Amino acid sequence: MSETASNRPDLPAEIARRRTFAIISHPDAGKTTLTEKFLLYGGAIQMAGQVRAKGEARRTRSDFMQMEKDRGISVSASAMSFDFNTFRFNLVDTPGHSDFSEDTYRTLTAVDAAVMVIDGAKGVESQTQKLFEVCRLRDLPILTFCNKMDRESRDTFEIIDEIQEMLAIDVTPASWPIGVGRDFIGCYDMLNDRLELMDRADRNKVAESIAIDGLDDPKLAEHVPENLIEKLREDLEMARELLPALNPQSVLEGHMTPIWFGSAINSFGVKELMDGIGSYGPEPQPQSAEPRQISPEETKVSGFVFKVQANMDPKHRDRVAFVRMASGHFKRGMKLTHVRTKKPMAVSNPVLFLAADRELAEEAWAGDIIGIPNHGQLRIGDTLTEGEAIRVTGIPSFAPELLQNCRAGDPMKAKHLEKALMQFAEEGAAKVFKPTLGSGFIVGVVGQLQFEVLGSRIELEYGLPVRFEQSQFTSARWVHGPQDAVDAFAAANKQHIAEDNDGDTVYLTRLQWDIDRVERDYPDVTLSATKEMM
Ligand code: GDP
Repeated sequence: MSETASNRPDLPAEIARRRTFAIISHPDAGKTTLTEKFLLYGGAIQMAGQVRAKGEARRTRSDFMQMEKDRGISVSASAMSFDFNTFRFNLVDTPGHSDFSEDTYRTLTAVDAAVMVIDGAKGVESQTQKLFEVCRLRDLPILTFCNKMDRESRDTFEIIDEIQEMLAIDVTPASWPIGVGRDFIGCYDMLNDRLELMDRADRNKVAESIAIDGLDDPKLAEHVPENLIEKLREDLEMARELLPALNPQSVLEGHMTPIWFGSAINSFGVKELMDGIGSYGPEPQPQSAEPRQISPEETKVSGFVFKVQANMDPKHRDRVAFVRMASGHFKRGMKLTHVRTKKPMAVSNPVLFLAADRELAEEAWAGDIIGIPNHGQLRIGDTLTEGEAIRVTGIPSFAPELLQNCRAGDPMKAKHLEKALMQFAEEGAAKVFKPTLGSGFIVGVVGQLQFEVLGSRIELEYGLPVRFEQSQFTSARWVHGPQDAVDAFAAANKQHIAEDNDGDTVYLTRLQWDIDRVERDYPDVTLSATKEMM
């Protein structure tokens, strides 16, 4: 194997072997199939097909609701841990639907790298591009898998050019496909001078691997049909001349992405990609925090909540907070400090997500994802430490793009509704605003589908039918500034003011003009479309 890019040789071995990443892709590119093969090679499942139910469930709303009912499946798939060679992989699932971009964004704060899956026939699609831009905000290293090479796909140079052009990132081929569509026989492994040949007969079988001594090795002709060999030689020469060579440091900095070609459904190219994640993907990275950054090798344990999932078991109102460990070596039963409330918290039944199963986590290292069942104390953005008052930063909340009034079908149940809404707000599923004047709640989401999901969940989990109605407001902005300036502003604009679920002041309006006016008339307050979760 080629050299491994490590910036921090001093990391404890258990931390250094961890790779925590997410897969980003456009729907249908093959994320679910690839995940399945990862788990298969990781020994976490016996047969491909077990993750499928979830992937298919994303397709329609009714199936989505079914998935919501069947919380067990979707939750255990939120984070999956498995071993591969000497590595421990933690794969964090990104929500598939484009409506849930905020959730996706926060998920990406919990990983150190992303695998970008593209369809060889379609190239870079809209959702891939959006997710890529989010990764770029954090300079996340990206490894690329070009899938479905067993089908008619675009010319290899063209695909690489498109990624370079559309995403403004250097692309270096880690492998090179031989033949197209039905003639596709496998890849030339450019990093190890090997031929990797596909076994079409058995989809769960690891492909055959043949070591080659450069392009003039006569072994090449034994395995590659005559009609493909000349093109392969030409392509590879041109690729080596025109495309940048792999620079591990540049990959770690997010400026270069290595690309592997394969066919997830035929298990082809997957193992090479996994080797690549091990070799070129980063170890657990330092975490930005206030008042100081957290390094993974610190002996004291710390972690932060990037996702909360409620009502995993409808009979109990408990939730699971997904915590990304930022430093140290956590052991079950440890007492950690919940920094926001300064309260101690005994973490006695943390959960580790091993593919289809949940398991009690006896220990966890920096880089791991554990689930902590709780009764609502843990919120997105919260930090847990061994006592130090340190707060992980960079987990934002975005202003919702759609607002609606929410009312209980039965007016006597308004208090129940408040409880339900607050809980979903804490889960990050919606923003809930309580206007200063009048009664009722205004609920804000990013995509229309979320209203429907929310309505169904409130009914399902709380037995409370609700109505969503058009709101007079279309935009929400958080009001920042010195407290007296914020108070004076709020007093003078009561009909526009609400509190969010954390008690922060929000300005509601339907006109951009209003926002501009406030910025002009109240120089001491700023209206912001984002807020740091804390
Ligand atoms: P997701 O939406 O990104 O999770 O995509 P899926 O993994 O569900 O795949 C979408 C469709 O493409 C499914 O019908 C898969 O069987 C198919 N598919 C996935 N990988 C491959 C592949 O390598 N080759 C071919 N021909 N089809 C594939």
